[in-house]
Amino acid sequence: MIITNSTEHMQELTAIVRKNKTIGFVPTMGALHQGHLSLVKLAMERCDFTVVSIFVNPKQFNNPEDFKNYPRTQEADTNLLSEVGVNLVFIPSEKEIYPAPDTRVFDFGETGNVMEGLHRPGHFNGVAQVVTRLFNIVNPTMAFFGEKDFQQLAIIKLLVDQIDLPIQIVSCPIVREYDGLAMSSRNRLLNNNQRMHVPLIARTLFEAKEKMEYVGVTDLSKWVKDTIDADPELKTEYAEIVNAKTLQPIITWDDANNIQLCVAVHANTIRLIDNIRLK
Ligand code: AMP
Repeated sequence: MIITNSTEHMQELTAIVRKNKTIGFVPTMGALHQGHLSLVKLAMERCDFTVVSIFVNPKQFNNPEDFKNYPRTQEADTNLLSEVGVNLVFIPSEKEIYPAPDTRVFDFGETGNVMEGLHRPGHFNGVAQVVTRLFNIVNPTMAFFGEKDFQQLAIIKLLVDQIDLPIQIVSCPIVREYDGLAMSSRNRLLNNNQRMHVPLIARTLFEAKEKMEYVGVTDLSKWVKDTIDADPELKTEYAEIVNAKTLQPIITWDDANNIQLCVAVHANTIRLIDNIRLK
C-alpha cells in the first residue's frame, strides 16, 4: 500500500493506473470504522485499483469546536486500510488541497437548503469544494459514498451532473452497531453514559417505519422528535420526512414514491445524524 501526502505524486500515480485500470475512490475524514470499510470493500470488488483519502476538511465545518474535536487516528486508519488491501492512500495537508483560497460557490437549489444545508450553513459548499478537488486529483472511475450521509449523497450526485464529471457515484447502505446505532467517527466522542442513550435514535427510526401504516406524516415526524427528546441526554435538531429524491418535506404518504426519514440529534455537544427509508 502506497501512502502519500503529495497532490503531485497522487496525480502521477493515478495517471499511470488509469491507463489500463478502473479506479475506485473512497473519500473519508478518517477515524475509520466498519462503515468506511464497507465502502472500501465494495470499491475493491467493483474496481481494479482502490484509493482512499483521509482529510478532515475545515471548509465543511460550520463549527470550529467541532473541527477541533473531530477524532484523528491516522496510524490506526492506515493499519486498517493496509489490512483490507487498499492500493493507495492520500493524506494531504490543507495546503495540498487548497494551495490558494477556494472561493467557488455551488448552488444545489432546494436540495441544499433543507436539513443539513439549513442547520449547517456552508457545509455542502465545503463538501463540494473538497470533493471536486479530490475527484480532480484522483480521477476515479467510481466514487463510493454512504447512505449514512443521505443528503450528502444526493448533493454529490447533483454535483457530478452539474459539472458533467464522468464518475459513477455508488451509494452504500448504512452500517450499524449491534444495537442499531449508525456507525460514525463521532461515536468515539461519546462518554459511557451518552453511549447508553444514543441507540434510542435508531430504535425510534425503526419503530417509525412500523408505525407509518397507522399514522400521518406530520404526526409521525412529531412522534419521532418527541420520543427522542423524552430522553434527557438527547435533543433533536430536526426530524424530517422527505421525498428521497428531492429531499423536500412531504405532507402525505402519497406525495412521493420513495420516502426517507432523516434526523439530526445532539448528545450534548456531539451531533449525530441517521436516516431510514420508509417507502
Ligand atoms: P466521513 O469520514 O464521515 O466523511 O465518511 C466518509 C464516507 O463514509 C461517507 O461517504 C459516509 O457516508 C460513509 N459512512 C460513514 N459512516 C457510515 C456508516 N455507518 N455506514 C455506511 N457509510 C458510512
